[in-house]
Amino acid sequence: MNRHYLSLLLGLCLGTSPLLAQPAATAPSRTLLHCGNLFAGTGNDLQREMTIVVEGNKIAAIQRGYTTPAAQDRVIDLKSKTVLPGLIDMHVHLETETRRGGIVDRFTQNVPDVAFQAAKYAKTTLMAGFTTVRDLGGTGVNVSLRNAVNRGLVDGPRIMTAGKSIATTGGHADPTNGYRKDLMGDPGPEEGVINSPDEARKAVRQRYKDGSDLIKITATGGVLSNAKDGSGPQFTEEEARAIVEAAKDYGFAVAAHAHGAEGIKRAARAGVQTIEHGTYMDDEAIAICKKMGTYYVPTIIAGKTVADSARMFGYYTALVTPKALAVGPKIQATFAKAYKAGVNIAFGTDAGVYIHGYNAKEFEYMVEAGMPPVEAIRSALMTNAKLLGMDTQIGSIEAGKFADIIAVDENPIQNIKTLQTVRFVMKDGKQYK
Ligand SMILES: [Zn+2]
Repeated sequence: MNRHYLSLLLGLCLGTSPLLAQPAATAPSRTLLHCGNLFAGTGNDLQREMTIVVEGNKIAAIQRGYTTPAAQDRVIDLKSKTVLPGLIDMHVHLETETRRGGIVDRFTQNVPDVAFQAAKYAKTTLMAGFTTVRDLGGTGVNVSLRNAVNRGLVDGPRIMTAGKSIATTGGHADPTNGYRKDLMGDPGPEEGVINSPDEARKAVRQRYKDGSDLIKITATGGVLSNAKDGSGPQFTEEEARAIVEAAKDYGFAVAAHAHGAEGIKRAARAGVQTIEHGTYMDDEAIAICKKMGTYYVPTIIAGKTVADSARMFGYYTALVTPKALAVGPKIQATFAKAYKAGVNIAFGTDAGVYIHGYNAKEFEYMVEAGMPPVEAIRSALMTNAKLLGMDTQIGSIEAGKFADIIAVDENPIQNIKTLQTVRFVMKDGKQYK
């Protein structure tokens, strides 16, 4: 063994060289959060004058009153704030953001361009108080983004990602949908396009290979794909079942984008976990969702935003504009109806279809449609944590969970809009804001 190699080895063992990997973390430091009001997310009530003890990346204890710090403890004064668990959004697209004429981006942007902007959107999302998100489809940069966040290279929320969405030929999320003919090609399961139960299974396995955390399908057409109708079903029930069955083998939940009633029914009967948007959900679809225990992720803010954008000349293409005007304004009323009928509701917004960082506007729209504020807030906490299979780790402020904690100026149960101005953000025990 040569001398140089030996000294390298020694350096590694002692952890002394600044050029080598960082040594293991030292004993966790204690941070005391003095909270004027605490909404822990375990019930409907706020508690006055509480202290959250954070050790390392975990919540160590919750104590009554303002605990006096020991000499080496750090104190964060949130006595004038209401403190809540970090919020969870079940439907974001961190790779992209809406802009006038943005449909050309997929022809002009390289992968690194997408990656850099995705890093910015991830940070914006975290700063808005969303400490965990489910990314429901992109090019695959979202998988790398998740890894970069986990490694601490990029500031962002915890990300559970679908990677690339699964569609059928010409469907919403066929990556060459709307291209001119010589550019269309015939993408298959690897690119997330399937046309049989066998291909459906292959596409799910490909997502597993890619490193996705869950599966997203586009069960009906969509608003923003450059295709004419957004409401018809685009999967046979057999194909949807094959997706759900294959997903189960890998521990993946399935999220189904769906506007039209028939697509919602097929997806719900096939056993998907969530229906996204759900615009034309009729009484039968509502009954099926209730029977199957399917959760509805309304994305009201996305509907309102696409309708507003469509009124600006040239914002979308000629095929997209009428769909945006027709579909967008209906979602809030669908939400009101589904909520009243007792469909399970999970919080999700379709961020990227509107400008990143405004996710909490969705709470205001939910409340406007008849959901009590405390229920709207809880839909973004334990409800989502359970759907992600992370309810022992996130979704409430309890000892043993990750220290994902935010603070706002007012009591959000009295003023839901206060969630749109988040003053303090901690994720994994690290203060970002
Ligand atoms: Zn979406």
